Amino acid sequence: MGNTRAPPPTTGFPLNRLSFLRDTPAFLSSALASSRVILFNNLHPLTTTTPHYSVHFLPYTTISHLLPNPFTFESEDAYTSAYDSRDPIPPIFVFLGVDEKDLESGFEYQGQGGKSGDTVYKGRPYFAVDVSGNEKAQELALGGVKEGEKTEGPNWRPQRVDMGLPAREAAMVGFGRQVLHWNMNNRFCSSCGSSTISLHAGTKRVCPGTDKALIIEDGDTGNRIVCTVRKGVHNIAFPRTDPTVIMAIVNSAGDKVLLGHNKRFPKGFFSTLAGFCEPCESVEDAVRRETWEESGVRVGRVIIHSTQPWPYPASLMLGCIGQALPDGETIDLGHDPELEEARWFDLGHIRRIIEKAEGGAKDGGGQWVSDGEEVVRIPPPAAIAHQLIAAVARGFVGGVPKI
Ligand SMILES: [Zn+2]
Repeated sequence: MGNTRAPPPTTGFPLNRLSFLRDTPAFLSSALASSRVILFNNLHPLTTTTPHYSVHFLPYTTISHLLPNPFTFESEDAYTSAYDSRDPIPPIFVFLGVDEKDLESGFEYQGQGGKSGDTVYKGRPYFAVDVSGNEKAQELALGGVKEGEKTEGPNWRPQRVDMGLPAREAAMVGFGRQVLHWNMNNRFCSSCGSSTISLHAGTKRVCPGTDKALIIEDGDTGNRIVCTVRKGVHNIAFPRTDPTVIMAIVNSAGDKVLLGHNKRFPKGFFSTLAGFCEPCESVEDAVRRETWEESGVRVGRVIIHSTQPWPYPASLMLGCIGQALPDGETIDLGHDPELEEARWFDLGHIRRIIEKAEGGAKDGGGQWVSDGEEVVRIPPPAAIAHQLIAAVARGFVGGVPKI
């Protein structure tokens, strides 16, 4: 039972992101030299199975000859105005943050006054880098063995299907993966179609105004085509995060929870309802809308219980608990055909399912549980859906006004 209330993976980020130093090349350059790096190949992180399943971090010093330090410029402005489309594209090293508990690396950086004052930042820096196009780096990562020739030791393993990494590593992998994926899909300006460049250690892209490749004879300005977003500070893009609501809805009496069976789910599997927030929609409204669309149930009050990043590719799941209106509890699947079945489950029934699932799970995962004649399964404890269901089953809504 020990891990059943642990935070889901990808929450509890273990590093200090020092986000205000991402635009400081001197800091990034120094941090990279002392860092450990998570390598990705086609968005699969380099992990190992020995002695246990974990990320296979590489010291930057072991890969620096294949992946040169890209933070050798003086300032982001200087880097942007020196843009030359004939130059090779440098590797994108995503700065994940500093583990302030690990002082072995000896890394420290003294703030240069101004925004960071005189503070000294210490710890082990971590970066993520994608090596999809770099065969030599891939070879080095796998220890000289070709991909597909081994199942143990360092290898590229898909993350989404396997949530078994230690929680702190899952969070770091998630951050790196999401930012690398966003960079891959945003190589061109969404306004003018010109190539963009990566700044802020992978967390910002800009559409440069000039390209040295366009300077052919004296007097050429190097100006690229007119880009409507290249005015003021608007020629920039940041990684997107898509808010997604996921909700445990209790009835007005507070003794039942609404769960749904999606047609993609295995037989007997029920989970909380969920859906994307629409543009200009509050979290509360999104919970009410999605619940009504998928189940016909009308929801009154809504509170946010907990949240979980879900970087596949870019969601932030906003875990909510809502309560149905007394006259709005009738299930009607006639609107959005997303669910095959929606049902009010007695919370006593859910408690028995949770106790059996958690009691019988060696890895904290959910299991098939027989409750009377019916076999029902809910998501495993690593999923925020489980946390929400468990919260209402354990009386989260008890003792509060019904509406
Ligand atoms: Zn542009």
